[in-house]
Amino acid sequence: MIDSHCHLDFDIFDSDLHQIIEDAKAAGVSRFLIPGTTPDGWQRQLTLKQKYPYIDIALGLHPYFPDTLIDRHIDTLEAVLADNQQQVVALGEIGLDSTVEIAMAQQERMLCAQLELAQTLHLPVILHHRKTHHLLLKHINALNFKEGGVIHAFSGSEQVARDYIDRGFYLGIGGTITYSRASKTREAVASLPLSSLLLETDAPDMPLCGYQGERNTPAKVSLVAQTLAQLHDTSIDHISEITDGNYRRLFCSEGNEGERPSA
Ligand SMILES: [Zn+2]
Repeated sequence: MIDSHCHLDFDIFDSDLHQIIEDAKAAGVSRFLIPGTTPDGWQRQLTLKQKYPYIDIALGLHPYFPDTLIDRHIDTLEAVLADNQQQVVALGEIGLDSTVEIAMAQQERMLCAQLELAQTLHLPVILHHRKTHHLLLKHINALNFKEGGVIHAFSGSEQVARDYIDRGFYLGIGGTITYSRASKTREAVASLPLSSLLLETDAPDMPLCGYQGERNTPAKVSLVAQTLAQLHDTSIDHISEITDGNYRRLFCSEGNEGERPSA
């Protein structure tokens, strides 16, 4: 299994990262994607990527950390991506979040600049959303964005999910589906094709049901897979095989060039 979204570069994993990775492997999780959030984090991610061959990285500017230096950061991002083309599988984590006190216009400017950069570099994107599906879809359409990507921590209706799938996106499925109160998302995920889903944790955030208040870790992908298997009335092995294949189709160009679903 693959954790397609975990922030293993965050300080909270500094002291025991090796053990966290060993625990994940013991739970059947053997590959990890660390999305980027800030310019400071990009170097840490590149260092981790060098140390652990089964870690993939994406670089980007997360909507939680905007500041007055957006233009300079975008220029830096472009330069760092150019210098590390072989090391980077996607541009992200980027997106829009209406629950934080950061002007939406500023978030949209940062999103669009990065979508354009991804389009130029032919990189898929990792998209963060919170009550912003309509805006994300608006910008994806306005830019005629064709590189695809993943909707991180998908929650929402089946129709919204299909709008993204139609535009070449996968849906990142994490701990949300382990909560019975998330009935709309659980119903949507149950009716969506497995060929459009990726597994993720968002570790250290988004703890699964029963683990609230604890640091989330990539080993928990196995429990997300178990819940997804129940929702689709199939086996964990099947879930793991299909979602691993989806991951490779989206993020690994080895032998797959041109196989990304087109928008
Ligand atoms: Zn994240």
